[in-house]
Amino acid sequence: MTHYPKLQHGSRPKRYRTLAAAAAIAVVLPFGSLAPAAADANFPSPEGQTNISSILTYSDVVAELQKLEQTSRYGVNAFTLEEAGTQVSTSEQGRDLYVATVGSGEEHVWVQGRIHGNEPYGTDSILTLLKDLGSNGSADYSLLREKFTFHFIPMYNPDGSEANIRHTVLWDQESDAPELDADGKQQRIDLNRDWTADGFVADESLAFYEYWTKVKPDFGIDIHHQGLKEEWGTGDDVTLSLGISLAPGGPTLPNIENGVYDVLTRQMHVYVYDQLAKYGSINMDRYQVGNGYEIDIKGGVVSAMMLGLDYQNLNPDGHSNPVVFFETSGNTSDGSLGQKARGKSIRQNVLAMKELLLGLATGEVQQADAERWEDIPHQPVNGYQTDYAGIQPPR
Ligand SMILES: [Zn+2]
Repeated sequence: MTHYPKLQHGSRPKRYRTLAAAAAIAVVLPFGSLAPAAADANFPSPEGQTNISSILTYSDVVAELQKLEQTSRYGVNAFTLEEAGTQVSTSEQGRDLYVATVGSGEEHVWVQGRIHGNEPYGTDSILTLLKDLGSNGSADYSLLREKFTFHFIPMYNPDGSEANIRHTVLWDQESDAPELDADGKQQRIDLNRDWTADGFVADESLAFYEYWTKVKPDFGIDIHHQGLKEEWGTGDDVTLSLGISLAPGGPTLPNIENGVYDVLTRQMHVYVYDQLAKYGSINMDRYQVGNGYEIDIKGGVVSAMMLGLDYQNLNPDGHSNPVVFFETSGNTSDGSLGQKARGKSIRQNVLAMKELLLGLATGEVQQADAERWEDIPHQPVNGYQTDYAGIQPPR
């Protein structure tokens, strides 16, 4: 059990109300929220008909985790952050935050989905992979269980998921109503901009941050959705974008860990790109925020992991780990999710995760040519969109 200093209880990190206002504006920023460029894209749904009746709810997730814990052959353990012992352990509205572990390897892997509540299939994809790891006796899954201990977070943002919105809403649990700002407005927090050196505005952020400092993972994966997207230069529909939230070769990543993550994150995606290119229905490109800008945000959860965020001395050794993210095309909010693409969307995420993890387990990822990141389709780079210094010029 790791010893860590207690947070001052009752004084959860102070609310940065100006930051909260900024986060409300950030709804137009990535990940995945840029308006889709394509009017005629046919993945997942050209009609914009979104039926969300099959989207997993919070109670669906809890029930599925309990079922997997009871029925899995290979030791799935599902628990709440309260049970894990974090000092803040629930969502703003008081929902328990769930993690499931499987595997017994020395290297720990963090896999999170649905930090944006309106980006649903990270949840389905993670539950699918968890089920496979818990039940499949084949050599591939045996290797993954021997090499890794997995920490799956199928629904990072349960409040936003229940409301089908990107954010979480700051909540006063005593009155069971939104905490209003000075103008009487709800305060919506983008949880993927809320791991900052100044602290955490929403409870979910501090809860999962503290759990991260206990786990100290070796690798991470983060699953999102974007709107419909066409491949630059060809106009083909993109089904999956491969992203790194601190741009390789950009202002930040090359300076972390002597550039190790700058190389390894590119190798991770080059490997995924090569493995998934075998599947005809998957068309990949590099994640960009639009207009040729690369993403370079420090307050994103997985960016903060790579930066080794130390808040209130919870991470005194400055642990850090590389993380990549996947963006599935189609989003409930802009009506482009499309029922027909559901199975395909989930499958491509499961394949991407499985192939990446096998490649890390065998060491093939670490042998991939990082420079081939340039070969993955993308717009010419015009600069970097940051959350700390606006737009930065290309390097
Ligand atoms: Zn997202």
